[in-house]
Amino acid sequence: MTLSLNQVTKHFGAHTAVDHLSLTIPESQIFGFLGANGAGKTTTFRMILGLMDASEGSIQWNNETIDYSKSHLIGYLPEERGLYPKLTVKDQLIYLGKLRGMSKQEVLSELDHWLERFRVPEYKNKKIEELSKGNQQKIQFISAVIHKPKLLILDEPFSGLDPVNVEQLKQAVVNLKENGTSIVFSSHRMEHVEELCEHLCILHKGKPVVHGGLKEIKRSFGKKNLVVHAD
Ligand code: ATP
Repeated sequence: MTLSLNQVTKHFGAHTAVDHLSLTIPESQIFGFLGANGAGKTTTFRMILGLMDASEGSIQWNNETIDYSKSHLIGYLPEERGLYPKLTVKDQLIYLGKLRGMSKQEVLSELDHWLERFRVPEYKNKKIEELSKGNQQKIQFISAVIHKPKLLILDEPFSGLDPVNVEQLKQAVVNLKENGTSIVFSSHRMEHVEELCEHLCILHKGKPVVHGGLKEIKRSFGKKNLVVHAD
């Protein structure tokens, strides 16, 4: 399933947050979005997710308009975390899974798999507020993938995590890709993108300044020029 953005633009009043962005996100690959604060990464994700309309341009999946009623197609890890602190991990996931059409049994079997994988099976009955920030992030990640989406959008997934948690999440992302999920993630840091992505786009003030395959980009520009500076 190939995701394509064609001249996608978003205006907020007089401000243009995303400016004629055209790119293709190939199937079963990891695509990186790099850019400083305010570059337009989250706004682009929200348009792909159908949370806001583009002012101009179109977004298609396999050359068709995305059908957002098929909520199982896309998984989303938002930058601002959205867990319910008083719920247990299990209840949080059952609630979210049911919204996506899953049965309680399906949710629990997937949840067990992911908690084992992150080596925290004991968290199933803990309240979200009892977990560290890194472990809350893992639960947020599980929330994004529990329904086995075809496209996974991760907004700054590694931000604020210690190296062990970053490594575990990276491994999970790579395995999902190997199993056929298309993944798009944003980051401020080139090293995450270099390690994980075949394709990337660097956004600057809403405009794509570099876009293409990582190897070709590195050949054309040299590694030094790919560092993203905050304004
Ligand atoms: P960060 O790394 O800080 O999350 P970003 O690359 O995700 O940044 P966006 O959040 O997409 O950037 O913001 C792009 C620009 O659009 C910013 O100037 C921001 O202030 C503006 N913006 C985003 N959402 C809105 C909104 N709802 N109303 C008005 N302006 C907005």
